[in-house]
Amino acid sequence: HPTAPGMMMNAHFANVGEDASKEAYEHGVQVVDEDKAFNPNVSKYLNIEHVIPAGFNYHLIAVFGSQSTGKSTLLNYLFGTQFGVMSEQERRQTTKGIWMSKNKREAGGSAMAENILVMDVEGTDGRERGEDQDFERKSALFALATSEVLIVNIWEHQVGLYQGANMGLLKTVFEVNLQLFVKDSRTIPKSLLFFVIRDHLGTTPLKNLQNTLIQDLSKLWSAISKPAGLENSRIEDYFDFTFVALPHKILQPEKFEEAVNKLSLRFREGYNDPKKSGLLEEAELPVFLPQYHRRIPADGFPAYAEGIWDQIVHNKDLDLPTQQELLAQFRCDEIAREVLVAFDEKITPLEDKQAEDARIGQPSIIPDLGPIMNAARALVFKDFDTNASRYHKGVYKRKLSELEGKVDTRLKALSQKQISAAHKSGIDDFSNAVSTAVKLGQKKGGSYDFAQIVDSEKKKALAKFEEDANSIAIQGASWSDATHQLALYRKELDEVSGRLRKEEMRRLATRIERWVRTRLDESIGLEFNKLGSGRGGSGAPEHGEKPATEKDLWDRVWAIFTDTVSSAEKRFTDRAQSFDASPDEVEVGLWRLRRKSWGVLRAKLDEEVMEGNILLKLRENFEDKFRYDEHGVPRIWRPTDDIEGVYTRARESTITLIPLLARFKLAKTSSPPPLDAWIGDAPASVSPADEDDLAPIGGLDDDEGKTLEEEMVVLSDSKQADLLVRFKKTADGVYVEAKRSAIGGMTQ
Ligand code: GDP
Ligand code: MG
Repeated sequence: HPTAPGMMMNAHFANVGEDASKEAYEHGVQVVDEDKAFNPNVSKYLNIEHVIPAGFNYHLIAVFGSQSTGKSTLLNYLFGTQFGVMSEQERRQTTKGIWMSKNKREAGGSAMAENILVMDVEGTDGRERGEDQDFERKSALFALATSEVLIVNIWEHQVGLYQGANMGLLKTVFEVNLQLFVKDSRTIPKSLLFFVIRDHLGTTPLKNLQNTLIQDLSKLWSAISKPAGLENSRIEDYFDFTFVALPHKILQPEKFEEAVNKLSLRFREGYNDPKKSGLLEEAELPVFLPQYHRRIPADGFPAYAEGIWDQIVHNKDLDLPTQQELLAQFRCDEIAREVLVAFDEKITPLEDKQAEDARIGQPSIIPDLGPIMNAARALVFKDFDTNASRYHKGVYKRKLSELEGKVDTRLKALSQKQISAAHKSGIDDFSNAVSTAVKLGQKKGGSYDFAQIVDSEKKKALAKFEEDANSIAIQGASWSDATHQLALYRKELDEVSGRLRKEEMRRLATRIERWVRTRLDESIGLEFNKLGSGRGGSGAPEHGEKPATEKDLWDRVWAIFTDTVSSAEKRFTDRAQSFDASPDEVEVGLWRLRRKSWGVLRAKLDEEVMEGNILLKLRENFEDKFRYDEHGVPRIWRPTDDIEGVYTRARESTITLIPLLARFKLAKTSSPPPLDAWIGDAPASVSPADEDDLAPIGGLDDDEGKTLEEEMVVLSDSKQADLLVRFKKTADGVYVEAKRSAIGGMTQ
């Protein structure tokens, strides 16, 4: 028989004044008192006697018979118990109610079975309680329902006498007992009816007495009312019989004791093995056959017995399977509570930690969560199985799945919180790692492969997450599957990658814009600087006619601008494609680039035509025309020279630049460049965020109410007028100076 570990129910009794209690239970424990009350201390007693942890390794014997037939005396001799016996002098009832004691007999070696519990039952012929047969019936039923072996104690001279041998009572007990077995007759174990014939004189052989008794019992069995379906059942289907005769205790004390000693040896473990038993005399066969055992674990026996007694007392329909189920429910619940204590000790602090982390908004990662959860879960089920699996199978299974539900709900919550913390911090780490790598790349000179960074960080992040998820996987739990979480994680990584790619696009756009600005600064600046040279790049100006370089200034500006932007577009596209930007994203990026570049050009133009700058250019332009002859040789003014004529022509020529500069207009078409067509319509996929930082452009953004013509105004009319006045003054100054130098040269 398996034995249960001593950790279970009532373990706390073990240390409480064991010696004192032992004394208090010297005569055993009164299971049921004379008022039919069940003693709540039965389990305390069984604990003191170390029976509670025995699992199935215990046996229950009860005695049945008329009062003062030496029942208690027999039990005391057989089992070394100290049940009260009637003194020779007083002749009155001593055993009240039902007592129980553990076998105290020191049987040499291991001859007797371990943990034999003996129940001494108040005599059963009504006389001990007047006419109250209720108690004797109930106690007899109790004895029959709970015991593996029922010792039927009977005087030799009672054999054959219906009333004297308590046959009436036996009949009732059998009847009710049969009702117990109706529900599920297959699972109810047989009992052994152990007839002990007292004061056997020896004149009538035991065999004859035995036959008489069997005949009586068969008659009795045929007379009892049987439940439907069991009409044809035989008494042997439910009981085995054994018969023993004992000599007169008072007249033949030595023989009595010798016989009792021999008898005691039969209370040992039996096997259902005919070969083993075959070698033995009938009088030596062991009595505790496995099929008699009620299969109630010892720790559940007190509750079981109490339940049986409760039903008997309240005259309920005795129903042993139901009793077993009730008991199983009670004990399984109790065991579940007990095994959860150790589980709580391990798991509750982790739950608290998570709650606290959640409160302060910190991602909660518990190291070793997986091993702790697995160990706690395995232990709780193992403990439950060890202690509860002995009970009614159906109930056990139901309670096990209840327990699984409780345990797994909590572990699931723990796992999910940990997984979502791992998810959150994994995403953060990923995003930070990408940003850091990009920054490092920028620091090293800007050559970094964004797509490769994202790809390798994503791989790392996924591997880490998978590792985290695996580390908290619960073995043997179908719910513990992180596939779904992994998919969510992958999805969010992709989303974050997309966002990071957008940021990278912006960075790229900023870099390209900067490049455009630098390029335009230089090349447009150069074009405007050319204005400073009145002779332009293509030979001497014809008087009154603008030099070619001046006339097609805007064509060149436009060409430079579009060339620059188109090579910027190519750079942008190449780079963006290298990190898997979508065609839409590239399209939006290019559109933005063109708009922003136009803004850059406009700013550059504004800078060039700023008052001081443009005035200087005009003056240089004028001076070039005025001070140099058509061959590019500086003029030395003489008083005879037509200074005024040259001055006027040069001045008028430069003045024509002002309206030319005032409007961005192509020479070929003498209309504004096709900026609107060149920038193009906003792509369909453009988002409000993409337009956030874009300055409006006349002719493109209608709601600005500004036309393309207006967009192309470089100098307003009033600015032109103002510039003209200033320029003339400057030119006048140059003229006066020239005049002066001519006169000065003459006088010298
Ligand atoms: P119980 O009421 O059945 O438990 O009987 P007890 O054990 O209290 O014994 C009742 C009386 O019978 C006592 O006075 C015993 O001494 C006496 N007694 C015990 N055993 C025997 C026996 O084997 N034969 C006879 N004749 N008397 C016995
Ligand atoms: Mg007695």
